[in-house]
Amino acid sequence: MEKQDLLYEGKSKKVYATNDPARLIVAYKDEKGAVNNHISNAVMRMLEREGVPTHLVRQMSERETVVRRVRMIPLEIIVRNVVAGKLSTLIGQPEGTRLRSPVLEYRYKAALLGNPMINRFHVFALELCTPEMLDEIDRLAFRINKILKQQLLRAGIRLIDCKLEFGCLPDGSIVLADEISPDTSRLWDAETGRKLGKDRFRRDLSNTIDAYQEILDRLERIHCS
Ligand code: ADP
Ligand code: MG
Repeated sequence: MEKQDLLYEGKSKKVYATNDPARLIVAYKDEKGAVNNHISNAVMRMLEREGVPTHLVRQMSERETVVRRVRMIPLEIIVRNVVAGKLSTLIGQPEGTRLRSPVLEYRYKAALLGNPMINRFHVFALELCTPEMLDEIDRLAFRINKILKQQLLRAGIRLIDCKLEFGCLPDGSIVLADEISPDTSRLWDAETGRKLGKDRFRRDLSNTIDAYQEILDRLERIHCS
């Protein structure tokens, strides 16, 4: 697979065209890039084994992965199991409060607007995707959350919330794309409540990579890679 033009540079990744028009190469950027690449691929492989369609083709190097090129749906799908972050101030409940059922939120992927929270009516009015596509996205998001929650618990990790992005293949089917990593999810130690994922990164950069590596080690221990 031959890496060609840089198509897009985001906050955490660079996206390259390849000699195959149906494939892209994603290159993770910063110090956490390599471990995020490994974790995201391990998680996607695990989801594939459970029958969830993803964009993953194969890991190419420490920081690079070959993925199926999709038309991204400009939504961030947040799935929450426990109150944390912005939801805590939104509903006035302390961080760590368990939710009776998973909560799904949509954010409009528009960096200039600060990725605002929107609802289904905005999605359709803005023609971000069709109602059928959004139904499929909801279904996949809840299923991914259920599988991830169960598997992570086997590794002693509590899934508080995670951010998902989906895309559309040329045949119209929806697949999980982008990344699932500690940068995009809140992961707490199931025993001690110690923060292992993105809240650690946001509050204290020093031990971030160690904590991320620990997540990867635990996933490997439950043969999730
Ligand atoms: P951002 O700062 O916009 O979140 P990232 O640093 O995460 O960007 O870079 C990844 C970019 O590539 C994102 O815009 C994401 O939507 C896009 N992307 C992820 N997976 C795919 C894919 N399979 N096909 C096309 N684009 C993708
Ligand atoms: Mg991103």
